[in-house]
Amino acid sequence: MEQLVKNDRQMITELTAFADELMVREKDMEKAIDEFLVKMGALFDVDSIVIKEKVENGAAVKCTYQWSRRSDTLLRGLERRFVDKALEEWEERYQNSEGFYLYYKGEECPIVIIDKQVESLIQIPIYKRNEKIAFVEFVDMHERRIWKKDEIEAMKSICSYMFEQMFSKRRPRKDSEILRKRLDRDKLTKLPNIDRFLSRVNKSIAVDRESDYCIISSDVANFKYINEKYGYNTGDIVLKRLASTIYLQIKNLISCCREYSDIFLFAVKVPKGTGNDGIKSIIEKCNRAFLDEIKSVTEDTNIAINSGFAFVGDYDLTVEEAITGATAARKAAKEMTIFNANRCFAYDAKMLANKARTNELIASCDRAIENNEFLVYLQPKVLCRTYEIVGAEALIRWQKPDGSFVYPDEFIPAFESNGCIRKTDYYVYDKVFAFIKDRLDKGLFCVPISMNVSKIHLFNNSFVEYVDFLLKKYKIPVEYIEFELTESICLEGLPSATYTMQWLRQMNIKISIDDFGSGYSSLEVLTRLPISILKLDKVFMKDELSSNDKIIISSIVEMARLLGLDVICEGVEEDAQRIFLIEACCEKLQGYIYSKPITMEEFSRKLENEKHA
Ligand code: C2E
Ligand code: CA
Ligand code: CA
Repeated sequence: MEQLVKNDRQMITELTAFADELMVREKDMEKAIDEFLVKMGALFDVDSIVIKEKVENGAAVKCTYQWSRRSDTLLRGLERRFVDKALEEWEERYQNSEGFYLYYKGEECPIVIIDKQVESLIQIPIYKRNEKIAFVEFVDMHERRIWKKDEIEAMKSICSYMFEQMFSKRRPRKDSEILRKRLDRDKLTKLPNIDRFLSRVNKSIAVDRESDYCIISSDVANFKYINEKYGYNTGDIVLKRLASTIYLQIKNLISCCREYSDIFLFAVKVPKGTGNDGIKSIIEKCNRAFLDEIKSVTEDTNIAINSGFAFVGDYDLTVEEAITGATAARKAAKEMTIFNANRCFAYDAKMLANKARTNELIASCDRAIENNEFLVYLQPKVLCRTYEIVGAEALIRWQKPDGSFVYPDEFIPAFESNGCIRKTDYYVYDKVFAFIKDRLDKGLFCVPISMNVSKIHLFNNSFVEYVDFLLKKYKIPVEYIEFELTESICLEGLPSATYTMQWLRQMNIKISIDDFGSGYSSLEVLTRLPISILKLDKVFMKDELSSNDKIIISSIVEMARLLGLDVICEGVEEDAQRIFLIEACCEKLQGYIYSKPITMEEFSRKLENEKHA
């Protein structure tokens, strides 16, 4: 293939020269973009290139140009719009990654854009004044394409150079469609669209500076579930009722729109100094009224509203920024694990800082791997009575070059938000396998070591492939490894999670349920899954165990034992707790009372000492 011989520098030069020539020669920018796609398709040797542009104030994405090698055709103005909730999720992941999005067949992809035939896809964003305005997708249908770093850089630079130019020179589409959309109301709820919402709010603020203005973002918790369980008609009714409730309940409503899917934005005017509590009570009253209203549609008790709000002007927020702030607050409300309850959060500067911190952590992940900044610590699991070491849990640590530690509670959620967690978890697994292999090769005694499994792995089967790869690479007996899954992963019933669990069982690899008791615990459900070990969560280990605590713990332990599960209690710090566990017939513990997580060398020494004790 001639194309692959060209180095990336040459490719950039050739494409830039071609683009310059094109801009002079071709006055019609639509045609220029088409022609440029053909050229890029040939040079990057892909099967198709698709351009998707953001429309409707970023709430939706629309395919605008496409070239395909198979038919050598160009399609323009494709009417495929993506306004799913998944867009939000996908955007978030996308924004967090290193400036592009890479997909391979079989991997999880939150937005349903991927054709079954697609083997690999790389998506490059195009920015205009720091704002993402479009994406260019390069698609391979025949092979899993491994993109080199330099190729990606070449794509990035050529896409941004070219499209920023071509897009800006393109005459505004005289599409009557765009005009019509602006005038249109949302078909379902009859609410104005977001453009009209924005202009209405801005106008209101301009004429009345004596009041405070607050933007509220609300969505229906479990909306997908309502659609699935009751059908789309019921889903539509729920959305319409929410729109009408907002109109009826909110005094001094400036405007309200459906941003997309089940997400609504509304703006209220309140007397200066109303503050967070004042706004909260307004929103909560409205949300309660909605729930009453909805009881007549469905008896379902799973329905609730998540709301977030931000005042225009607080932290110098413009109306647009207050929308972003209210959205962030709504998402924070959503993350609270309270079932069947309305939740309402105020935007605060911490959320802004959190987002920046998350991005910072993600951006340094690759460098940290290269610099060996990640360490694998082991925390012993011991018998309550004798402190004999019967196992260990692998826990990751991140030691910065200055010696300081970043703790997993901080970086794991950040890494999970964009998929980096795969790299770090696989790194941990590799180190654990190597540790076991090393001890066994030296003829030393070893114990089973458990590894944490992030939910992200279970969206596809790459976890199974990787564990299988490690088993072949290290050839260690499976009884030395265990995987810890949280109960929520198991209960969500993802098909690939079920597959993973079945595969582990087939391989005779033990699964333990982590953090049991921290959430929505159901032993009954768990017994239907191939689980061998129950790990009682730290929450049970309070400073002083009340008699009720004791009854609960003893009952869980007893039930688990009757069901044939092994039980271990985490977070044991006090001797009184240990004594109680012995009384409750829980044989094993993991906790500071015996040891904090320690380095592999220290753990080895502990095993040696035990051997000689
Ligand atoms: P986890 O899986 O529940 O791990 C147990 C956590 O409890 C560890 O925190 C451990 O240091 C801590 N711990 C152990 N004994 C005691 C005790 O007696 N008292 C108290 N207060 N804490 C105790 P750590 O290492 O900070 O990890 C936090 C969480 O981060 C883990 O919770 C796990 O969910 C996640 N995590 C850690 N390493 C990994 C990893 O390699 N992969 C993934 N996916 N998650 C990891
Ligand atoms: Ca764990
Ligand atoms: Ca745990």
